[in-house]
Amino acid sequence: MVTITPPEDRRCERCGRKDCWDDGNDNWTVVGDHGNPFCIHEWNINGTYSPFEA
Ligand SMILES: [Zn+2]
Repeated sequence: MVTITPPEDRRCERCGRKDCWDDGNDNWTVVGDHGNPFCIHEWNINGTYSPFEA
């Protein structure tokens, strides 16, 4: 049986920002360093999983 599990965290390859998925809010929450607010974040996860445009 194969279960597709969405990623629970992601990190930007460019500025180092780290997010964790918040199930309660159905949204990403910044963890630690917020990174560069002007960065066009390049997340280290599959780009097809994007519930919203940041
Ligand atoms: Zn970034």
